[in-house]
Amino acid sequence: MTSTFVPSADALAQGSAVHAFCHALPKVEIHCHLLGAIRQDTFHELARRSGGISTEQIDGLFAHGEKRQGAIPGLRALENHVLRRPDDLYRLTREYLEDARAHNVLYTEFFWNPTGVVQHSGLSYAVLQDAIVQAALDAERDLGIVGRLVPAIDREAPPQAAVEMVGWMAAARREEVPGIGIDYREGLGAPELFTQAYADARAAGLKTTAHAGEFGLPWTNVKTALDTLQVDRIDHGYTAIDNPELTERLRKRGMVFTVVPANSYYLRTLAPERWALDHPIRRMLALGLKIHPNSDDPTLHNITPTQAWAMMVEQFGCAPAELRALMHNGLDGAWIETGRREAWRTEWDARFDQLLQEYFPSTPAL
Ligand SMILES: [Zn+2]
Repeated sequence: MTSTFVPSADALAQGSAVHAFCHALPKVEIHCHLLGAIRQDTFHELARRSGGISTEQIDGLFAHGEKRQGAIPGLRALENHVLRRPDDLYRLTREYLEDARAHNVLYTEFFWNPTGVVQHSGLSYAVLQDAIVQAALDAERDLGIVGRLVPAIDREAPPQAAVEMVGWMAAARREEVPGIGIDYREGLGAPELFTQAYADARAAGLKTTAHAGEFGLPWTNVKTALDTLQVDRIDHGYTAIDNPELTERLRKRGMVFTVVPANSYYLRTLAPERWALDHPIRRMLALGLKIHPNSDDPTLHNITPTQAWAMMVEQFGCAPAELRALMHNGLDGAWIETGRREAWRTEWDARFDQLLQEYFPSTPAL
């Protein structure tokens, strides 16, 4: 029997105790796209120099109606027209890490697609990687957040471009770049097309994750990511639960799913009054899958890490013990050495208990 969060009168008087708690909680973020974290002012400033996208178009990307829209047009505009210098990548990384740190994210692995920017900027992967890694090292020194780059395959580009990307990474290997991912529209690039790139990545000692089972695409894509790409982690993965046998394999293996509570597909397709009840995240929790909440494209989707965590309580009914399990899942899924994982787990457990006492003193200790 798990208890629910019981806030103190003080916390209620301050506003939402759940948000304050989720804000203060030490967090990892293991599913965020660098370009989807761009600040609106920065987008305008860079686009004034480059052209290729109008002021009105940029503002349209950040306009949020009742139902959030996809981030892809904004990401493509940045790749195709706007990002032209190593400094641009440095700035985006620095600002993302500042924004994440402001929500007590202490460790993040963030995605960036090299293929389009290399093609359109004429700069080499190594130069762009160095700019991002330098920004991460500077932010770690200045702000106390650890940032790790995860180059992601653009699945809408030919599979050979993915093989090329892994080759660039192997030739310019940095310890701050621990693995690869794959993203963009899953329906336009089935996972099995990228078997060679994933095999090359594993041979080079890189970790792997993949966006699979997003946009309502079938569980078979999650199975392919697991069995053919042999991923260490799964991004989204919602439709895995449509196959009980696959679900059980993933549960037994302790696979970590980086879920996105504000994912626009379910906001668009599920009825508002049923949304939180029918959402696969709720069923993934009930089935015992190891999930971890993330912001994905925080500025373009108008969501913060704090809000993503608060949604786990407010929308999907997580009790304190479940929220602590989410924190552990993030540490288990992060590509960090065992010593750091164990140290953070001990420290963060203590902080969790302290925050629970502070914001929810009537909640029984875990
Ligand atoms: Zn994503």
